[in-house]
Amino acid sequence: MSDTSRVTLEKITALCKRRGFVYQSADLYGGLNGVYDFGHLGSLMKNNIRQQWKHAITQVDGDIIFLDGAILGPQAVWQASGHIKNFHDPMVDCTSCKKRFRADDINIKKACPHCGNTAWTDVREFNLMFQTQLGAASNHSSTAYLRPETAQTIFSNFKNIFSTNRVKVPFGVAQIGKAFRNEITPKQFLFRMREFEQMELEWFCKPNQSDKYFEFWKQERFNFYTKIGVNPEKIRLRPHAQNELAHYSTQCVDVEYQFPFGWKELEGIADRGNYDLTQHAQEANKDLSQIDDETKERFIPHVIESSVGVDRLFLTLLFDAYCEEQLEKDTRVVLKLHKNIAPIKLAIFPLSKQLAEPTKQLFNEIKKHGYICTFDQTGSIGKRYRRNDEIGTPLCITYDFESQDDQCVTIRHRDTLQQERIAIDQIITYLYNYFSL
Ligand SMILES: [Zn+2]
Repeated sequence: MSDTSRVTLEKITALCKRRGFVYQSADLYGGLNGVYDFGHLGSLMKNNIRQQWKHAITQVDGDIIFLDGAILGPQAVWQASGHIKNFHDPMVDCTSCKKRFRADDINIKKACPHCGNTAWTDVREFNLMFQTQLGAASNHSSTAYLRPETAQTIFSNFKNIFSTNRVKVPFGVAQIGKAFRNEITPKQFLFRMREFEQMELEWFCKPNQSDKYFEFWKQERFNFYTKIGVNPEKIRLRPHAQNELAHYSTQCVDVEYQFPFGWKELEGIADRGNYDLTQHAQEANKDLSQIDDETKERFIPHVIESSVGVDRLFLTLLFDAYCEEQLEKDTRVVLKLHKNIAPIKLAIFPLSKQLAEPTKQLFNEIKKHGYICTFDQTGSIGKRYRRNDEIGTPLCITYDFESQDDQCVTIRHRDTLQQERIAIDQIITYLYNYFSL
């Protein structure tokens, strides 16, 4: 009955636009390439993604400390991290149409895919960081960068975090926040953006524990995706080959999802060794080592990193949930999102406008308990179901003419289409049980 084979990037993009999940940023002025705004449903859903991630990482044995670091960082941080020296892509321009490409995206022995000319500029290295000047004087000392990853604010705050939180290795520091990369060719909607959001966890441990925790986090993070409803057949762990490793890591594995445009990275799990803390200790000339309780020797903690793109996960969850189903009378588009990811938890309908008053009372009562819900009284009940199926609302409640006599309402389930009759005074308990983690 269900047919998910036809999900395409075009359909997801159209649904996001039609229902207000995502807008092209500055749409009114023609749009800003590689930058997006999240509308009502999009921002609610992103918030649910963040919540689920926080919930998952804080379940492990060991402390997780949170940080909300600044986006602007001084030159010294990015000098130490290696981003000024290493964070670039090879870029090439067509000399005829002036279009710019990533040299690793195209074959420069062949013609320009845009105009057909074969004359190219030399391949140049293009740094992906956004640079800006602090204050009025544009001298070298006031150069700052928009962070290309959130991780470095964790490393550069390591001493503060360690001395204010009474923690001991192993422990993790987690951060959710914006990062920026001046991608030469942003593409595939939310897949490669210039402004994006990361959820990063840096897990600090003793040097001899890094292999153990690398394995631990690999499994833990893989399990996260199935817990939030991702089809396990569409995700896999792919270890990096030696030549793919970033300058800071000794081993790395990607969690990949099978998009219609191929297997693509959702998350990177990397063993960063003691690279970052060592670099910052040197650049800042500060001691970032700790004393081992048992051996009494000093050591610089090693780090296992898990780094997820919020927007990319958002896109993945839409792809994974999208279905077109043939029902008896019509076809429906339904997002089979996990109930904890769905932006709207339930929709409440009066069967007829005459029943709007008592239905509104129930709606207001449910809202008071913190559930994000909508009230919808326009169109047939069938149309109202379709509108909510399309945005993934797990439950719809209908207040009908019998409700006034029997004090019950009908709850309809999105995926099974099953309906059940529940007493109004039991609704809150019902919802609590249904949505509890
Ligand atoms: Zn060209």
